[in-house]
Amino acid sequence: MVLAQLGGSISRALQQMSNATIIDEKVLNECLNEITRALLQADVQFKLVRDMSTNIKKIVNLEDLAAGHNKRRIIQQAVYNELCKILDPGKPAFTLKKGKPSVVMFVGLQGSGKTTTCTKYAYHHQKRGWKPALVCADTFRAGAFDQLKQNATKAKIPFYGSYTESDPMKIAVDGVETFKKENCDLIIVDTSGRHKQEAALFEEMRQVSEATKPDLVIFVMDSSIGQAAFDQAQAFRQSVAVGAVIITKMDGHAKGGGALSAVAATKSPIIFIGTGEHMDEFEVFDVKPFVSRLLGMGDLSGLVNKIQDVVPMDQQPELLQKLSEGHFTLRIMYEQFQNMLKMGPLGQVFSMLPGFSAEMMPQGREKESQAKFKRYMTMMDSMTDEELDSTNPKILTESRIMRIARGSGRLVHEVMEMLEEYKRLAKIFSKMKGLKIPKKGDMSSL
Ligand code: GDP
Repeated sequence: MVLAQLGGSISRALQQMSNATIIDEKVLNECLNEITRALLQADVQFKLVRDMSTNIKKIVNLEDLAAGHNKRRIIQQAVYNELCKILDPGKPAFTLKKGKPSVVMFVGLQGSGKTTTCTKYAYHHQKRGWKPALVCADTFRAGAFDQLKQNATKAKIPFYGSYTESDPMKIAVDGVETFKKENCDLIIVDTSGRHKQEAALFEEMRQVSEATKPDLVIFVMDSSIGQAAFDQAQAFRQSVAVGAVIITKMDGHAKGGGALSAVAATKSPIIFIGTGEHMDEFEVFDVKPFVSRLLGMGDLSGLVNKIQDVVPMDQQPELLQKLSEGHFTLRIMYEQFQNMLKMGPLGQVFSMLPGFSAEMMPQGREKESQAKFKRYMTMMDSMTDEELDSTNPKILTESRIMRIARGSGRLVHEVMEMLEEYKRLAKIFSKMKGLKIPKKGDMSSL
């Protein structure tokens, strides 16, 4: 998990505060000092950290909080909100439309991970039904085309480039034309980098951009530069119309927090983060789920509140009881899919969950998600009651999986994919085990 150390330190500080018998100013200050230290170590800008601490103190005015208020929850919520504020670029992420050809141009310094990220981006979209293609317009770095070719071949993504042509504009234009004719809907153009920001790089970027008229320009940046990210992102934005940012190498650097917050401060929407060298080590960046995961809370306490707010009373106790006992069965998953399809109240609840909303109900792709839920439900219709109500996925032996595939007219690997999804969700919900379920009106036990 990205920035695990930072998240761990903040959660520990909050936990220590929760363990205190009385929460007074001293306990709150100790907690905030710990959090401040952790953020500064992750290289988040001093001013942002100081403002965060001041804001929390303002919100959590201990003296003003009437007895009966749950101070712990208010403090936790304030920390969560302030972290979200630091990382929120204040601009929605750019969305492209599937089905119509879009050109996406990647820019960044040499070594930032641009070429690797182009393939990750293509691969991510390919898995979600897009038809991507890669164009290598990097004529500056020897070996760039070979690298792109190798990555593209591995991911089975069509590519275009040249060993002999030295004009990046010509390659870019020819590549884009070729793939438009082939009906690709996501044409990704990798451009040259340089070791540092220099006029020649920006000039070339402008020319390629003029020639290919991209729908989106993505700036790729290495997270290890920490706070310097602000100036770099700003410089690129001033030279080309950068519409989104991807921050790479978030796996290896304690300073990742600095890059994320600095870029957010330039008001550039961060859309993905790179978390390793492999093709699928790539995560959608969405502030709220990111902060929830950072704090290791998965937003589960919020979830209980939300269930209480929106689920009809008669449906609450059973579901909450089962979840608090760690019983997330295939039947519960089935019922939640049903709810999500109806977009009933539970739909809102589950779409709030980290890992659920981004991956299963991505915005703008509701139709695909619905088709997936229906496909999964058809398979579950071929399951026995025993299988649906078990919390032990091991009972689904090979022969049972084959029977379910046959019964639902689906392929074995599709059934296995559905079971993987179930295991992933069961893992998220397992965190609810042991969670105290408050009675209506009594929130102090959270
Ligand atoms: P370019 O010069 O900007 O095109 O950079 P490359 O794509 O060639 O990447 C430079 C190096 O960074 C390569 O060794 C990549 O494997 C590595 N790299 C790229 N993204 C990541 C990432 O998210 N995590 C890690 N650990 N390495 C990465």
